Amino acid sequence: MSDDEIQNDGYDQALAAIGDGEPYAIECSNGHTSMPPRRRCPECGDDDLSEVDIPTDGELLTYNVTHVPTPDFNEDVPFVLGIAEFGDVRLTGRVQADADEVDIGMPVELGLGESETTERPLITFDLA
Ligand SMILES: [Zn+2]
Repeated sequence: MSDDEIQNDGYDQALAAIGDGEPYAIECSNGHTSMPPRRRCPECGDDDLSEVDIPTDGELLTYNVTHVPTPDFNEDVPFVLGIAEFGDVRLTGRVQADADEVDIGMPVELGLGESETTERPLITFDLA
């Protein structure tokens, strides 16, 4: 199995946990959190990693509106892509709202949706 496959496997598991309402991130022994899961801490390279629960309530840090997608999202456009913070963990996800309803700093709720193009699962932020 390649590293890519292992990482993708971990990512699918992490997405499933979001769908179950029990999201988690990976924390190293130095307290760095990361998501999606990796085999080493991206900050310090530590491989002593454990799962930590993260809250489902977060705050939207930034967003943009995608009109020209990669082919995997051809049928999804336009959509709002945002970065939100849940506890210490920053995630990128689809904001489930029109751009004119969205403001930086607004509360969002972590969820799981799917691409309309590929029906693959993706991280979503619902307006709280
Ligand atoms: Zn670390």
